[in-house]
Amino acid sequence: MKTSIYGLTFEQLTDWLVDHGEKKFRSKQVWEWLYQKRVTDFDDMKNVNQSCIDVLKENFTIETLSEEIKQESEDGTVKYLFKLHDGNIIETVLMRFNYGLSVCVTTQVGCNIGCSFCASGVLRKNRDLTGGEITEQIMKVQHDLDGKQKGERVSHIVVMGIGEPFDNYDNLIDFLNVVNDKKGLSIGARHITVSTSGIAPKMYEFADEGIQINLALSIHAPNNELRTQIMKINRAYPLEKLMPAIDYYLEKTNRRITFEYILLKDVNDHVKEAHQLADLLMDKKHLSYVNLIPYNPVADNPYERSDKEAILNFYQTLMDRGIKCGVRTEHGTDIDAACGQLRSKQIEKEKARKKGKKEKAGV
Ligand code: SAH
Ligand code: SF4
Repeated sequence: MKTSIYGLTFEQLTDWLVDHGEKKFRSKQVWEWLYQKRVTDFDDMKNVNQSCIDVLKENFTIETLSEEIKQESEDGTVKYLFKLHDGNIIETVLMRFNYGLSVCVTTQVGCNIGCSFCASGVLRKNRDLTGGEITEQIMKVQHDLDGKQKGERVSHIVVMGIGEPFDNYDNLIDFLNVVNDKKGLSIGARHITVSTSGIAPKMYEFADEGIQINLALSIHAPNNELRTQIMKINRAYPLEKLMPAIDYYLEKTNRRITFEYILLKDVNDHVKEAHQLADLLMDKKHLSYVNLIPYNPVADNPYERSDKEAILNFYQTLMDRGIKCGVRTEHGTDIDAACGQLRSKQIEKEKARKKGKKEKAGV
């Protein structure tokens, strides 16, 4: 199996080409064909010499994902299901905001963190995505936009699809390098957000990377008891390990952190928890922003969405305590655009189809 060329950073591509007898300047040309002119065939790289094209063709592929399903919502959200070379299915979402076009990428096939409210966590991790497979999601969406010839460009990225990005750290960092590269897609670091369930040691490492990328932490509960109940990762990294990691990140980067908080009816949505959350963040409130997320119901799980009144009270309590916050606006609810939903439905369908076949065959 050839590897995806999208998995290489510019430096890696340069070294690789030089190692294979090509001139150093070729990497800039190849890079521009991939990320600025965005060809999908090595033969279309017009100013690149034949020996370079041949050696690239022998060792790399450009396209490894195939589009299985594409759904467009009334609000312009587009949801893609891509099939990987090994048959696994992932999902990618394009969202339209007044500030630009944002793509939500997947980092793993399934997720092992197993949060009790999440559709991705229900299906365990099958494997990590390669850096190339993460980048290719952006390229697929951009190629789709290019085809419409409206000059639209992916300007923002959220790493909030299926999977825990900090459980696939090295590939994540390669991906961030590729999409951020000024000679290519040039998506600004400040326009990229990585969301983690709170793998504390990796938060230290991320702080040390010296990049301007935004960090979001899925906090979801203001005390250990409740957090462990809904996120079992809290056993490994409870709040007393998480908060120092956050403090380190803030001190090192001086960048604001977004705290994500899903509101689950009668579980974590009382005014009492809003006060506890405010207490927890009080000493860092100038660098904190709380994103309140209306829960998207997932089949076979016990939670319900909080009432509007509870959401408003939670919001108002935080605001009154001086904690900046907002309620996440939803995108594409008519097309299952929430984390992992379309994919898990598709997998259920496949299972049902296979079961039906077996039953028909009498096995
Ligand atoms: N694994 C990372 C990133 C992917 S999940 C993380 O957990 O942060 C991205 C966000 O979607 C997280 O904040 C997650 O808690 C949220 N999410 C998961 N399932 C959801 C659901 N059913 N409704 C609303 N938000 C959900
Ligand atoms: Fe994994 Fe994030 Fe879903 Fe938790 S919320 S199961 S960490 S994808």
